[in-house]
Amino acid sequence: MTLLDPHWNEPVLRQTSDRELNGTSASLGVLMGNVFRRTSGRGWRLRRRSMQLWPRWVQALQAFETGLTLQTGLLQIAADRESATRMGALAEQRSDLGLELQTSEQVRTIWPTALHGALHSSADGRINPLQLQIALRRALLQESVQPLATRVVQLERDGSRWRVHHAEGESTCHDCVVICSGLSAGALLEPLGHSLPISPVLGQALSLQLKEGPTTWMNWPAVLIDQSFNLIPDGPGRLLLGATVEPGTEAADDPLALMRTLNDNAPEWLRSASVIEHWSGLRARPVERPAPLLNVLEPGLIVASGHYRNGVLLAPATAEWISTALQEP
Ligand SMILES: Cc1cc2nc3c(=O)[nH]c(=O)nc-3n(C[C@H](O)[C@H](O)[C@H](O)COP(=O)(O)OP(=O)(O)OC[C@H]3O[C@@H](n4cnc5c(N)ncnc54)[C@H](O)[C@@H]3O)c2cc1C
Repeated sequence: MTLLDPHWNEPVLRQTSDRELNGTSASLGVLMGNVFRRTSGRGWRLRRRSMQLWPRWVQALQAFETGLTLQTGLLQIAADRESATRMGALAEQRSDLGLELQTSEQVRTIWPTALHGALHSSADGRINPLQLQIALRRALLQESVQPLATRVVQLERDGSRWRVHHAEGESTCHDCVVICSGLSAGALLEPLGHSLPISPVLGQALSLQLKEGPTTWMNWPAVLIDQSFNLIPDGPGRLLLGATVEPGTEAADDPLALMRTLNDNAPEWLRSASVIEHWSGLRARPVERPAPLLNVLEPGLIVASGHYRNGVLLAPATAEWISTALQEP
C-alpha cells in the first residue's frame, strides 16, 4: 500500500509560515457525535459509529504516541428556552449514551450566563489533532505502507488498474486509489468525468493565555460550546477558542473580534486573555451534496473527502467505510 502526500516528510506543526495548514492540523479536534440532533440517516450512523470506535482507536494509537488521550465531557449551553426543551428531549432519548440535561444551577460555577441550562455529554469531547496525526503516521510505518512525499497531479485508467501521476513527472500503478486529499479531491476527479465540486470554508482558531478566571479548569468539561463557539481548556491558564464558519478563504478581523467576545457575551476573564497563537484553515465542503463524500465512483476509484466541519470526528467511521469498500469486488 502506498500513501502519497506532498507534506509527508514535514513535521506535524501548527506554526508553519511557508504553507497552508491541512484541515486536520487547523482543527480543534472536537468530537461532537452523540449530541448530533438527528436520530436517523447517514450522518447519525457515521457519528454513532465513530463514537463507538474512538476509545478503541485511542487505546491502539497510544502505543505510538503515549500522550494521546480521549478528553471527554462536552457541555453545550442552551441559548434559550426552546433549545433547552430540545436538549431535554435528546437527553431523554440518549441517556444510555451519556447525555444529560443540566440546570443553570448545576453549571453556574463554570458558566454563570447559562440561564437556560445546558446539555452534557459524557462521551463526546476532544482529541488533540496534532498528536493524532503523529500517532497515525507512526502506526502507518509499522504497517506495510510505503509513504511517498509527492503531490498527485493526475489519475488515469490503465487497463483494470489506475496510473497515478506525481508532480515530479513519475507515476505509479495501483489496483485501487482512495482519494482523501480534502479540497483537491474535486480537481483530481473532474478530468475523469466525475463532477464532485468541493468549496473552501474558512475557519479560525485562537490559543489564549488567561490572566484571571478559571485557570485550573476545575470541574470543566473537555469542551464547552456557547453559541457555536468552542472553548477548550488546554492546560493551566490556557484556552483554545474557535469555530467561526466564514465563507471564502481569506481570514477577516471581524469574526475574530466576535469570537473573542463571544458575540458580546464573553466573561471578563476571556476578554482580558492575551492571544498567543492565531491560525486559520479551510474546511472542505461538498457543493450541493451532504458531507462527507464517501463514494465508490468506478471499480478501484474511491473518494473519501469533503468532511467539512467533522473530519476528525468522522475519521474512524470513514476508515471503516474505506476498508469495507476496498474488500468489495
Ligand atoms: C479551523 C478548523 C477547525 C475545525 N475543527 C474541527 C473539529 O473540532 N472537529 C472536527 O471533527 N473537524 C474539525 N474541522 C474539520 C476537519 O479539520 C476536517 O474535516 C478534516 O481535518 C479533514 O481531514 P482530511 O484528511 O480529509 O483533510 P486534510 O487534513 O486537509 O488532509 C488532506 C491531505 O491531503 C494532502 N493532499 C492534498 N492534495 C493532494 C494531492 N494532490 N496529492 C497528494 N496529497 C494531497 C494534503 O497535503 C493533506 O495532508 C475543522 C477545520 C478547521 C479548518
